[in-house]
Amino acid sequence: MKIAMVASEMVPFAKTGGLADVTGALPLALEYCGHEVILIMPGYKCIMDAKLKISRVSKDITTAVIGKNIKVFFIENKNYFNRDGLYGDKNGDYPDNLERFAFFCRRGLDLLKEINFSADILHLHDWQASLTAAYLKNLYSDSSFFSRIKCVLTLHNIGYQGVFAKEEFPKLGFNWRLFDIDGFEFYNKVNLLKGGIIFADFINTVSPTYAQEIQTAELGFGLEGLLRGRKNVLSGILNGVDYSVWDPFTDRFIMQNFSLANLEDKALNKEDLQKTCNLPQDKNIPVLGMVSRLVGQKGLDIFAGGLNELCKLNVQLVILGSGDLKYQDILRAAAEKYPKVISLNLKFDDPLAHKIYAGSDIFLMPSQYEPCGLGQLISLHYGTIPLVFKTGGLADTINKNNGFVFSRYTEEELLKLINQAILVFKNKKKWLALINSAMKCNFSWKVSADKYLALYAKAKK
Ligand code: ADP
Repeated sequence: MKIAMVASEMVPFAKTGGLADVTGALPLALEYCGHEVILIMPGYKCIMDAKLKISRVSKDITTAVIGKNIKVFFIENKNYFNRDGLYGDKNGDYPDNLERFAFFCRRGLDLLKEINFSADILHLHDWQASLTAAYLKNLYSDSSFFSRIKCVLTLHNIGYQGVFAKEEFPKLGFNWRLFDIDGFEFYNKVNLLKGGIIFADFINTVSPTYAQEIQTAELGFGLEGLLRGRKNVLSGILNGVDYSVWDPFTDRFIMQNFSLANLEDKALNKEDLQKTCNLPQDKNIPVLGMVSRLVGQKGLDIFAGGLNELCKLNVQLVILGSGDLKYQDILRAAAEKYPKVISLNLKFDDPLAHKIYAGSDIFLMPSQYEPCGLGQLISLHYGTIPLVFKTGGLADTINKNNGFVFSRYTEEELLKLINQAILVFKNKKKWLALINSAMKCNFSWKVSADKYLALYAKAKK
């Protein structure tokens, strides 16, 4: 099959979140299965930092190769993409984001023709790429080159929809008739993701449970009705983990490599983590790790609410993250009050993240909602037991055989479950059994790629 992915970010070129991990890893798995994949993304200023060989294709297009032979095409535009941020700066979102990504989506379609890539599937990611489906179906459908292409749209987090003032609509180049309830109109504003959901042939999210949840008023962010109307083409496919990066047996950031065969070496990583974080080195105190954006969605409200109680237990907390000032302040105050309990690291630090996954006993991820979640999947592979709220991808991947799950979103329930987890931790036999089944879980990209291929095949029919 010939697949063209369109996305606004991708590892190793530009990343603000999990989207980039998916668009960086899925194409490799698809190529491994024998399919022809290309990628199209904006040619941001930061692209050069990836230190891969970049060659020029035409006046505004450059390209690099990833995997064996996956071409990544960068669409350049001095006005739109030659900036430090991807979507905004310290003042917030760039005010011309609608124009920037409308340009990106149209230019991407034209590029397909220029390089004569007759795609079977256009795989679009999130609101920044979703206009591609609307252009394809409304402005390009007369051409035989484009008319047979099918569109799959992946929703990575429906909390982000690309909503703009109504006055911006003409900049998209569509007839005003598309600005209505069955088109881009959303409470008298323009909603780019909504347009994508309407015009894509198939839609998926990044876990089966999240695919259900976004059809409810609670988690649909206003698009639940539309999604319910399209439920016959809506599904959920879990993201995979890149085990070439996240493997305790080969991880170059951790003190001592280990696997199920030599689990005792995991203890050396705990010791090293405690030392690195200036916490007492004691193997009997459970270390609770957290690597997360510090925002409400990630459960920071109930975590911060229960923090004082938590610090009174015989535990250690290693927290790595950045985010809302409100939560940073609460955590900072607690870390000052309980220096022997909390190690607070308010930054983005990949090597430390690896050490936390390897050296903690329990990984905390009490997200209020979670489309898929990567942290819980990584921690499983490192024998660090996830403790999660039952939502989205967390509900689909964690259960009593490989972790701890609470199902009422309150700080009391979170604390209750942490207490239960600590009790199990003290029972070495039970704890080892839990680690064993956690480390045996397989969330490789190969599994997810097979599911995407089945979805593409369905779309092509
Ligand atoms: P998100 O909603 O933020 O994309 P995910 O769980 O899907 O959440 O993925 C987050 C990824 O980013 C994980 O690989 C996690 O380890 C990493 N991460 C988050 N915050 C930090 C940080 N402060 N430092 C290093 N890595 C981080």
